[in-house]
Amino acid sequence: MIKTSRIPGPANDCQLQNQMISRTQAIVLRYYPIANTSRVVIWLTMDAGRISTMIKGSLRPKSMFLGQYDQFYTCELLYYTRSTRQLHIARECSPIKWRPELRRNWKASAGASYFADLYFRLSPPGAHHAGLFILLEKTLDDLNVHGVLEPVIFWFELQLLSRLGLAPQLKQCLRCNREIISGLMTALFSNELGGILCASCANISAEQSAVIPPDVLNMLLSWQSSDSARICRSTRCTAPQLASLDMILRKFIEFHLGISPASRQLALNVLRRNP
Ligand SMILES: [Zn+2]
Repeated sequence: MIKTSRIPGPANDCQLQNQMISRTQAIVLRYYPIANTSRVVIWLTMDAGRISTMIKGSLRPKSMFLGQYDQFYTCELLYYTRSTRQLHIARECSPIKWRPELRRNWKASAGASYFADLYFRLSPPGAHHAGLFILLEKTLDDLNVHGVLEPVIFWFELQLLSRLGLAPQLKQCLRCNREIISGLMTALFSNELGGILCASCANISAEQSAVIPPDVLNMLLSWQSSDSARICRSTRCTAPQLASLDMILRKFIEFHLGISPASRQLALNVLRRNP
């Protein structure tokens, strides 16, 4: 049950006893202990981007927070904002979605952990971005019901890049703007430029590029244009196709986002293991 009875008014923010208290939906990205009985919880919120809250006494046996939050939960969170510090104080939280399969299904857990890690690294503190919140919320719901397959990892990366304004250009040549019809024309992928080049432009370009197989380009195009993971679940991928998708996106993320999280390789290793 969502504890909202002590929240005055419908607005997200209000002044209470000389302190600003905020209410928002929030997904638990990670947490760690602080002092003997408290925890710091890092959330992705609907209204304030990534925030950190201290939950005082969270580990005490009679704490009102026991069972109210865990990794990958979506919660209704009330917290006292501290404008001068980045660590806020949680007042109440109640789970809205538990997503229990993400703690039972180890493959789904590995995928969800990678996505949460990406958000932890890429969401600047306090920067509101509802599109990022909705993407993570919907994807965790999907993983909880359907589990995770390797293509879902790549679909999610494409969707995240799009919402960050860094989507790879996959339809037209980045130099001459000519539309490249996959399968009929040779397409080359330039990681440095962030998309495809036609053969003529690739020949005179100073940037490195490599031929991208038409079937792989079609998958990237199709997954980039769909905001539902259903599309990649229905695609049958061969091992060489998956290896190509993995390499293209890994290098793209390293170059354009400047990160190379170990959680990505860990998730892919887990997904490649037989049951
Ligand atoms: Zn061109």
